[in-house]
Amino acid sequence: MARAKAETNAERDHRKGNRMRIAAGLIFAGAISLCASGAAWSQTAATKSAATPQATPAPAAAPAPAKAPCANPNALGIARIVEIDTTGGPGFGFEHFKQLDFLRDHEVVLTFDDGPWPVNTPSVLKTLAEECTTGIFFPIGKHATYFPEILKQVAAAGHTIGSHTWSHANLNNKKLTEDQRKEEIEKGFSAVKWALGGASFAPFFRFPALQHPPEMVTYLGTRDVGIFSCDLDSFDFKASKPQTVIDSVMKKVDKLGKGIILMHDFQKHTAEALPELMHRLKAGGYKVVQMRPKAPVQTLAQYDEEILKDAKLPTVSSRPVSSVVQTISE
Ligand SMILES: [Zn+2]
Repeated sequence: MARAKAETNAERDHRKGNRMRIAAGLIFAGAISLCASGAAWSQTAATKSAATPQATPAPAAAPAPAKAPCANPNALGIARIVEIDTTGGPGFGFEHFKQLDFLRDHEVVLTFDDGPWPVNTPSVLKTLAEECTTGIFFPIGKHATYFPEILKQVAAAGHTIGSHTWSHANLNNKKLTEDQRKEEIEKGFSAVKWALGGASFAPFFRFPALQHPPEMVTYLGTRDVGIFSCDLDSFDFKASKPQTVIDSVMKKVDKLGKGIILMHDFQKHTAEALPELMHRLKAGGYKVVQMRPKAPVQTLAQYDEEILKDAKLPTVSSRPVSSVVQTISE
């Protein structure tokens, strides 16, 4: 109990601190700090949190437990881990945000949108595990409520998880009111929290179709949520075959020399392309950077409640499928 109280106080202090920093106008200050260098494949606190669903968020900044070293000597691995201070809503990805040029030559960040989804997301997770590397996942809220077990696997594997709205609405659509735009953002975060059984995750957000209405960019700043555009878009959702995804990413990354790469774990071709793409990145001398949040996202109670109402399940079971359904004969 004492520990839970300490966490609550820490979170309150953090929120208080954020408000003060906004008031002081220190937006974008100190957004990135180097967390570790040349680190081996390691896990985040999410691993532990995801296994034990709780009503209150756990702190993200717990020390990472030691993990078995990578078994693949040719793995892409993780070259660098950076911690992101999302105070004031910093933007990443040169397609839209040019202030924070933190990647070094031949460094890449792998990002995956629109999941979680059966088959394709687990396939992406398998490839990343084989390569002892990591990415940022931007799930769609509705998809997270359809497949919470898959999202829990993403967290358990130590990847960074953010959010990508509730229903993938284009927030530049003029038919949406300001309240509806906010609801898309906030319900997306609340849905991810629900799917993860209350475990903490990152205050990282990507707008659908990279459509950035200025007032929502400002709003995310007040919510201390980091905004992710990209440096290079794979356009994997348009690819007719896996090879097209590989060729598109390699051509663009070779031209830029580094960057945040936008892909979709939702897409079959991307899942199929990923093993070869990882080999090509390794062969090209590229190194993966992991981006972790300094503090977890704070969801809003109003939207957490809406998710519970939507679920319409008065006796929500948070037990994994494997503990409920056992094959006893086949
Ligand atoms: Zn998307």
